[in-house]
Amino acid sequence: MADAAIVGSGPNGLAAAVTLARAGVRVAVYEAAPTIGGGLRTQPLFDPEIAHDICSAVHPMAAASRFFREFGLAPRGVELLTPEISYAHPLDGGRAALAHHDLEATCAGLGPDGERWRRLMAPLLRHGEGVVDFVLSGQRALPRDPVAPLLLAPRILVHGTRLGAARFTGEEAPALFTGVAAHAVGELPSLAGAAVAALLGHLAHGPGWPLPRGGSARIAEAMADDLTAHGGTLHTGHEISDLAELAGHRAVLLDTGVPGLLGIAGRALPARYVRSLRRFRYGPAAAKADFLVSDPIPWADPAVGRAGTVHLGGSHAELVREEGLTARGIRSRKPFVLLVDAAVTDPGRARPGRRPVWAYAHLPNGDDTDPVELIRSRIETYAPGFGDTVLAARGVSGRALEAYDPNCVGGDIGSGAMTPWQSLARPVPRLDPYRTPLPGLFLCSSATPPGPGVHGMCGYLAARSALRHRFGIREAPSLGPE
Ligand SMILES: Cc1cc2nc3c(=O)[nH]c(=O)nc-3n(C[C@H](O)[C@H](O)[C@H](O)COP(=O)(O)OP(=O)(O)OC[C@H]3O[C@@H](n4cnc5c(N)ncnc54)[C@H](O)[C@@H]3O)c2cc1C
Repeated sequence: MADAAIVGSGPNGLAAAVTLARAGVRVAVYEAAPTIGGGLRTQPLFDPEIAHDICSAVHPMAAASRFFREFGLAPRGVELLTPEISYAHPLDGGRAALAHHDLEATCAGLGPDGERWRRLMAPLLRHGEGVVDFVLSGQRALPRDPVAPLLLAPRILVHGTRLGAARFTGEEAPALFTGVAAHAVGELPSLAGAAVAALLGHLAHGPGWPLPRGGSARIAEAMADDLTAHGGTLHTGHEISDLAELAGHRAVLLDTGVPGLLGIAGRALPARYVRSLRRFRYGPAAAKADFLVSDPIPWADPAVGRAGTVHLGGSHAELVREEGLTARGIRSRKPFVLLVDAAVTDPGRARPGRRPVWAYAHLPNGDDTDPVELIRSRIETYAPGFGDTVLAARGVSGRALEAYDPNCVGGDIGSGAMTPWQSLARPVPRLDPYRTPLPGLFLCSSATPPGPGVHGMCGYLAARSALRHRFGIREAPSLGPE
């Protein structure tokens, strides 16, 4: 029998499994779905030759996080392709704000706000590794680079409030910034949104916002290969519903959301901890639409067609209004939409006359309507004629997303709202948020700090806690390819 069991094979479950296995622990991973990967799955939907990313598509955090820096994706054959324009933000009148990979090119396109954008991003870029390691951490240890929090604090305090947009004079820069802040999924402006925008915003000009050649599943495959090479085992189609099924393991790490933790171990957990878990709140849903299209998207501003990621939300004011409605549970007719035309960055994903388009809209938590028409009309607003290129489409509502992956409660892809409090006290206020009161039981999903995204840090930090407390191993294992 293995020494440690991991329930769930999302990026955090796999990061935990790799970390434990590399420390010499025998690991078994149990995944309910027929394939591994959680939010890292890529598969054909309409055409056997065209693969679609089912959940995550763009990987600034996998390109930068401490776990993946040490793990090393490139030497394992996972090629991260970086688009020339990290993200674009179409505006009315056929215009668009563009965040180039190159900071100077971005500033040059922002007119009088160019210098302000440089002052916002350049210092973060100079301390890029420190900023990433501080934000993508458990937030419980002293920062490796003490300058990082000093740079982040004023930016978050200003841009997390109405003062932020007032700093800019044009329409482009505040729209760019707010579009990235909207990745936090919730009311805007917000401190959590500004923190996300500082992190992802500066990465756009540093390591970039890359797509793995061939799709997100390549990342999960590299992690699974490392795990099995170090004695770990993977069991798909194996749902764990009770902790008793894993009796005998010295450590059990759950890559589940809070309902998963309660379902598997609720009866054994102290009542106070359970009450605290029940207070954990969820954010709006991501309702997904996948399209098979015949041509590149006919953007009104052709420059948008060079961007890896596109934010459809209009001006700063529109974004604030519509994200506010969504957060309050009101179904917006103009929701924020994130879009990726993967073949722009990875041309190998297209075939003549066929290419995948990935998009999701922010809708109220638990929304169960098919989002295809809503998302199609949002794309049409900035790309007239898009609808004529659609060969096939499928929608996944927030509810359906939860049925696909129970960690996305009500369609919340963050496994819990990213409020300032819940960013730190995730899922409950504890010094070691990965450890539950039950000896040997750990939570390693994005319901723990630092929260959502493919960075592997929740799993890595949970595994380090398990190594310390269950196996007496304090030293960090080497994760790199051998
Ligand atoms: C539509 C969508 C788009 C996204 N886009 C991006 C993006 O572009 N970039 C990015 O960085 N992030 C993105 N994300 C977020 C990212 O995918 C998640 O933050 C990340 O996958 C969380 O990883 P995890 O390991 O914590 O959980 P998950 O990836 O959710 O994995 C959990 C796994 O555990 C399994 N499981 C749960 N309960 C059980 C059980 N009882 N027994 C056995 N197995 C179980 C599930 O089946 C699942 O496979 C997106 C997410 C979604 C849904």
